[in-house]
Amino acid sequence: MRLAADSVGFPFTTVTIPFWLLTILLAVLPSMWAMTYSRRRIKHNRRFRLCIKCGYDLRAHKPNEKCPECGTSVSATATGVGSITS
Ligand SMILES: [Zn+2]
Repeated sequence: MRLAADSVGFPFTTVTIPFWLLTILLAVLPSMWAMTYSRRRIKHNRRFRLCIKCGYDLRAHKPNEKCPECGTSVSATATGVGSITS
């Protein structure tokens, strides 16, 4: 970043930001936010026994059943063990 003040008396200051820095900031920060949001959503859904794929309330379902909305295994949602199966 570079600041350049005009010595002639121009009342504004020019701020120059390298394009690569702007690109990194606009690419990395939203990616970090998306990953954090995804992890929090999965943790929240497991805690309240919601389907980790679609968020359907699975409290009334047994562990061997599947989510009626998307078909994800309830056991994978409730325990967090195993992979998501449709
Ligand atoms: Zn589901």
